[in-house]
Amino acid sequence: MVTEVLNTNELQKVDPVFGQMSFDNHEQIVFCNDKDTGLKAIIGIHNTVLGPALGGTRMWQYTSEWEALNDVLRLSRGMTFKSAITGLNLGGGKAVIIGDAKTQKTPELMKRFGEFVHSLSGKYITAEDIGMTTGDMDLVRSVTPYVTGISETLGGAGNPSPITAYGVFMGMKAAAKYAFGTDILEDRVVYVQGIGNVGEALVENLTNEGAKVYITDINQERLEEVRDKYSATIYEGDNIYAEEMDIYAPCALGATVNDQTINQFKAKVIAGAANNQLAEEQKHGLELREKGIVYAPDFLINAGGIINVYAELENYGRQEIIRKTENIYNTTLEILKNAESKDVTTHQAAFDMANARIAARKEKM
Ligand code: NAD
Repeated sequence: MVTEVLNTNELQKVDPVFGQMSFDNHEQIVFCNDKDTGLKAIIGIHNTVLGPALGGTRMWQYTSEWEALNDVLRLSRGMTFKSAITGLNLGGGKAVIIGDAKTQKTPELMKRFGEFVHSLSGKYITAEDIGMTTGDMDLVRSVTPYVTGISETLGGAGNPSPITAYGVFMGMKAAAKYAFGTDILEDRVVYVQGIGNVGEALVENLTNEGAKVYITDINQERLEEVRDKYSATIYEGDNIYAEEMDIYAPCALGATVNDQTINQFKAKVIAGAANNQLAEEQKHGLELREKGIVYAPDFLINAGGIINVYAELENYGRQEIIRKTENIYNTTLEILKNAESKDVTTHQAAFDMANARIAARKEKM
């Protein structure tokens, strides 16, 4: 099991088919091509030991097929661990559609994609990711039942972002408990980077608790909107990483903990929604630990979204969604304590817990 994700250049050096799959033991990669609609998609199925591989579809203008392949391999692998650690009976999968969601996405293309999903007979179940809407999932639903994240009128569980934010809030509280001895976030200085769907809902949770919230985004209009709605302060500086703060909450892009930023951090806790926050899991996980910064593993605390869509498959309601999401607090605290007692990074401790669950199920098979 490799714990580092290969970059695109490294991927190109290994064999094009099984070489890629074995980079982290992916079970299946499906390339989907349709001349009439222009669909070019890749479905990555990483692991189905715990259940069908569930993960969203991302539509993105990749600069190369290698980049798309790298993304689907990396993202599908992440879903395996996210579901495993959250206690869901799901495997890890993800799909990418190569193209511009604004100009190239058509109902015909979405339906054709849905037919490819259907051809896998439920081994892969899709949902929304970047470039996708509930309406797109409804189109997929018209050709296959193997889709979640559909409209509430069709039996969907609704917008996952507030639930994701609530889970991040729970994970953040647990990390605060570990770092500061209390999980009360009143008067804590928290920087939320990216106030999109999840970031805004996180700001709401934080301001309700009386935290001192600073917000950043590349979208000025959005910043003003969120500032006016909550008592948050727009960060006016140009280097958020070097600011004095208690908690840094990355809710925009991945890999913001990297060689350039790691020595600048003054935050005592890192807890946010973005996927793949550590540019290099092992290296930067270790460096954070050495600096005494408590890192709440991203794939653990941003699992609210998958808990929400899992409800569509298991037919559980709002109450159970909230209960499972609140449990992120307990799991985070357990991981942080495990990491300390086993002398490993928090990221590694989370991986170990997820892998143990998969291994235990495999033994029973
Ligand atoms: P979103 O697209 O609604 O919001 C992202 C925000 O980040 C936007 O407002 C964008 O302008 C801003 N942004 C982009 N680049 C930035 C930069 N360099 N600096 C500051 N802000 C920047 O996305 P979202 O649904 O809120 O998701 C946020 C993150 O959480 C993503 O990484 C996503 O993969 C992850 N995530 C989301 C969910 C979910 O339920 N939506 C679940 C799990 C993980």
